[in-house]
Amino acid sequence: MNDQITDRCQQESQYLRSPIIVLDPKRRKKLQKRLDTEHGYRAYCDHDVEVGKNACGHGVYAVRQFLPGEIVIEVEGQFIRTEGYPGSDYLMELTKEWSLEPCIPAVFINHSCSPNCELVQLSDFEMLIVANCNIEPGTEITFDYRWTAHPWTPECKCGSPNCRGWVCDADEVKKAKKLAGKKKK
Ligand SMILES: [Zn+2]
Repeated sequence: MNDQITDRCQQESQYLRSPIIVLDPKRRKKLQKRLDTEHGYRAYCDHDVEVGKNACGHGVYAVRQFLPGEIVIEVEGQFIRTEGYPGSDYLMELTKEWSLEPCIPAVFINHSCSPNCELVQLSDFEMLIVANCNIEPGTEITFDYRWTAHPWTPECKCGSPNCRGWVCDADEVKKAKKLAGKKKK
């Protein structure tokens, strides 16, 4: 009986040691393209917003008109205990203990220094994207990320006349410039 178990274990560990079959990069690209267009994993569309491609990669667009103060979407995703979690660039701090890792479509909403939406925290675990002006169908949905400055703070390409040049809070621009300068040296 024990021998049989040992045999099986050996067989299984042998199986685990068999070489991993790597997906050919060209085939991966081709399959990914088909997955995106035919199954729309990165696409999202309801009666309110849809995900589309643009110069930034992806963006979220209004399907209908939104009036000032109207909820555009609720930010949904995974609630994570912040302690020890390395997080992504999109992680939203909810409380001292909890953060939200947003999912599609919220994760594709781009930053703008002159946004048409605001991020509103309604309660500890409820985040909303709310229109701050009239939004016409087809318009890209944006909000001000208000990030703190980091060495990785990206340059802003939102194109608005009052663009701060960096994807960070207005009070953090000086620090972002300084950190970027240091990185170049
Ligand atoms: Zn900008």
